[in-house]
Amino acid sequence: MKVAIYPGSFDPITSGHLNIIRRAANIFDKLIVCVMVNSGKYPLFTQQERVDMIRRVVKDLPNVEVDASDELLAEYARRKGSCVIVKGLRAGSDFENEFQMALINHKINPGLDTMFLTAEHQYMYLSSSTVKELGKYNVDLSDFLPEEIIPDFKNRIADATQGGNRK
Ligand code: ADP
Repeated sequence: MKVAIYPGSFDPITSGHLNIIRRAANIFDKLIVCVMVNSGKYPLFTQQERVDMIRRVVKDLPNVEVDASDELLAEYARRKGSCVIVKGLRAGSDFENEFQMALINHKINPGLDTMFLTAEHQYMYLSSSTVKELGKYNVDLSDFLPEEIIPDFKNRIADATQGGNRK
């Protein structure tokens, strides 16, 4: 059984992430979406909240599992019996960093390869940070976020704007 891992911060999951999840779930027997800790980012949602939101969004995809981990990705993949990491590649911005990460992960775990799916053109510009920026204004978010999580997102942005930012 081919198990792939799609790691990311997903703070929050966007329609661009969901597009990659759906496409990867069609290719592999099982896809594990894993919310990883990113020490460089100050998250809007806790790791558990991000997991819960992704679970709601992927509930119609039976071969997708949602998990969270603080482990090194190469070790996590080994423990899960996975030999493939899936990454989404947006034009320009992702390439350098993702190329470096793919090489490092392969060095640490030679049984692990990274496969890139090119972003769908309508999501090429989309990132969680862009959506967080847009959230401060009264913009229709339905092209950017899965419908199921828009209320959670709006509530959290409102809390954060009122000084209630949390870890
Ligand atoms: P970001 O904070 O940049 O939105 P994440 O760390 O959560 O992203 O990203 C996880 C993975 O999803 C990365 O491989 C990233 O390149 C990919 N990704 C993010 N946004 C998109 C998008 N709009 N289309 C395709 N892939 C994406």
